Amino acid sequence: MESLDEFSVIREYFSGLSRGKATIIGPGDDCAVLRLPAETELATSSDTLIEGSHFPVGSSGADIAYRAIATSASDLAAMGAQPLASVLSLSLPDINATWLEDFRRGLSSAIQCFSLPLVGGDLTAGPLTISVTVYGGLPIGQALLRSGARQGEMVLVSGTLGDAAAGLAFLNKEWEPDCADKEFLVRRFFRPESRLNLAASLLEVATAAIDISDGLLADVGHIASESELAIEIDANKIPFSPALSKLDNRQQVLNWALSGGDDYELCFTMPASKKVPDGCTPIGFTASGTGVSCEGFDILSSKKGYRHF
Ligand code: ADP
Ligand code: MG
Repeated sequence: MESLDEFSVIREYFSGLSRGKATIIGPGDDCAVLRLPAETELATSSDTLIEGSHFPVGSSGADIAYRAIATSASDLAAMGAQPLASVLSLSLPDINATWLEDFRRGLSSAIQCFSLPLVGGDLTAGPLTISVTVYGGLPIGQALLRSGARQGEMVLVSGTLGDAAAGLAFLNKEWEPDCADKEFLVRRFFRPESRLNLAASLLEVATAAIDISDGLLADVGHIASESELAIEIDANKIPFSPALSKLDNRQQVLNWALSGGDDYELCFTMPASKKVPDGCTPIGFTASGTGVSCEGFDILSSKKGYRHF
């Protein structure tokens, strides 16, 4: 145990990560100060991760720091926003230098990966909880909303689905993947891709978008209800990684992909006449009506998307 006080911890572990185009004043004063690019609106989103609820007890500091930044980055991507900065509020049960060094490593890597310089935060004593707020820039009036889908459009997803839920199920000792796939699946849970690199192309083609945090069917349901239309998904078109494609238990794999959360891939709608962005797969279409249906999957017998309460 260290005798570091709050201010030394902030200086030691949470400074020197604030360099970025938008940063005028970083951590150390009462507020951070950011300069927005011209003709830009500010997008912001906050997420809190609690040990035992959002990540398993005993997860490495580096993994949870990375995941905290990545999951918030994903919200910016889903709006079509470009990353500007992040703020981190951390509650720690104690000051453990080894853990904090590890945490900083993951934090630093995520901040670089997603271009989200850390410009401020808060540090309190309490159960391990990580709360990240991110800021992004959007061309005025261009934000990609959940409510923008029109009837007769394609529904697409980025990447592959189900890997993070499969990785979490492995961490929770619910199943045992092939040795060769363990690292990949656990990584998909702790190190989501967060498709910020798709944000610009989505602004060009997409009419509505959401990131998949609670499970595809639950999240696409928000596009359906906000856009006041029906969405029909074809389970046979869901893209799977090689690690999941080779499994025999199709119902389990579909459950992870359609009802398991944590993938942080993007789901979006676009007119069929436009070019599908690289790395994305059409999985269904919008129609008149309400709700989400899924050809080839028994929605009722499956677990619904994650709910906190
Ligand atoms: P105040 O009491 O004025 O809110 P604090 O003492 O909480 O300020 O924090 C001092 C400075 O350190 C602030 O600039 C704050 O943004 C920064 N800071 C505190 N905790 C963190 C953290 N976990 N990560 C990054 N910056 C932090
Ligand atoms: Mg103050």
